[in-house]
Amino acid sequence: MSTALVDDIKEIKEDNPFESMMSRFDRAAQLLNLDSDLYAVMRVPNRELKVYIPTRMDSGRIQVFEGFRVQHNFARGPAKGGIRYSPDVNIDEIRALAAWMTWKCAVVNVPFGGAKGGVICDPQQMSLGELERMTRRYAAELVDFIGPEKDVPAPDMNTNEQTMAWIMDTYSMHARHTVTSVVTGKPLELGGSAGRREATGRGVLFVIREAAKKIGLSLKGSKVVVQGFGNVGSVAADLLVKDGALIVGVSDVKGGIANPKGLDLPALMVHVAEKKTVAGFPGGTPVEGKKILEVPCDILIPAALENQITHVNASRLSARIIAEGANGPTTHQADKILNKAGVMVIPDILANSGGVTVSYFEWVQDRQGYFWREDEVNERLDRMDATLTSHTKLLAAENVVDEVIEVARLHGVEVLIIKHRQDLLAQYAGIAAIQYAVLEAAAVGGQ
Ligand code: NAD
Repeated sequence: MSTALVDDIKEIKEDNPFESMMSRFDRAAQLLNLDSDLYAVMRVPNRELKVYIPTRMDSGRIQVFEGFRVQHNFARGPAKGGIRYSPDVNIDEIRALAAWMTWKCAVVNVPFGGAKGGVICDPQQMSLGELERMTRRYAAELVDFIGPEKDVPAPDMNTNEQTMAWIMDTYSMHARHTVTSVVTGKPLELGGSAGRREATGRGVLFVIREAAKKIGLSLKGSKVVVQGFGNVGSVAADLLVKDGALIVGVSDVKGGIANPKGLDLPALMVHVAEKKTVAGFPGGTPVEGKKILEVPCDILIPAALENQITHVNASRLSARIIAEGANGPTTHQADKILNKAGVMVIPDILANSGGVTVSYFEWVQDRQGYFWREDEVNERLDRMDATLTSHTKLLAAENVVDEVIEVARLHGVEVLIIKHRQDLLAQYAGIAAIQYAVLEAAAVGGQ
């Protein structure tokens, strides 16, 4: 493959999520000596749609919102990925998130490609009626683009079960029959899956348990900081407390709080239910913005948004394990610093893959019209581990272990590698995913 392209890695802009994601892909492609034709295909999204969404606001005026849907790759099946609402949404971010979905679906070996969508809006400033009208119009614009066999959206930042219900209903109105499998993350009554709401946080717990075992850290009494207290962060925190961990810091978009002795999580949940923010919780001291990441802890879970751990703050973090609940919270430059410091970073495409795994279960259940109990869903989620183990065996058999190790090291897992070189762990799945996706693409492309 072209070395010129790989040399570009040095030039990447740290705050551009697409470039940040691509720098990892480029490195992996270089180490795999990826065929340059395949590289050219995988490096860009398959399709991008931009839509303008006229929405009647409560004032009676029309506001036109801008939205996107990017489908990165279909080689392994229908594209899959969330929809986010935020004033910061932009096409580069959505492109990066779509590609991450391709790698992530390959990591857990679910038969999907990658996609992502977003609308530039500030949901905190919108009424429920405005959100519904905007969502339905956005869904109507996507009708030809999405579908159970084409592209299956799910919730992401600032979207939830209700959003998915509106999209499903709008799509079904156009199809003239109910199509539950067009989205995942729906309410249970509308064909959702038991356990989906908790799935991403539960997956974060699973990988943290494995990582802690590997470095001899007991979860009981370990100190955890969580940035972002939404679906992913709050569920992960709750489950970690049940494993005996202390949550010593949490934050959301409005502020943060810390308490080295551990926050009273049930009381915090009540506070959040009432005030819609962790800020102002009386059981801790306030922490401003990104400073939450620097609160002393053993385990850090960035579960808010991209580019939170950068070359500026990476050396100030104390965590031994960073589990990337959010997509792309650690920049390429920060990875290198964390790697040198011996911090184990569990990459997003593995750490938060519990969500897409149970989304896959939901899609399967909808298509069968046969629904599983929650314990059946959670038992099947456990199988994620087995899939990852088989990926690493595949890689070992293909004699690419050293390359895998190299990429894993770039992603900050050097300590693990040195100690457990023979025991390839799921952390290396980033490269496995890329290889897997690439193999599939090769098969489809007849190469
Ligand atoms: P959410 O909307 O439920 O929660 C997001 C949380 O992050 C909120 O508490 C919000 O206040 C907080 N936040 C936003 N901006 C912040 C900032 N600047 N500083 C601190 N906190 C901030 O969203 P979610 O579904 O929990 O998703 C969070 C992240 O996890 C996103 O990156 C998303 O892509 C990723 N993710 C989510 C899922 C899922 O199943 N929900 C699956 C995989 C990955």
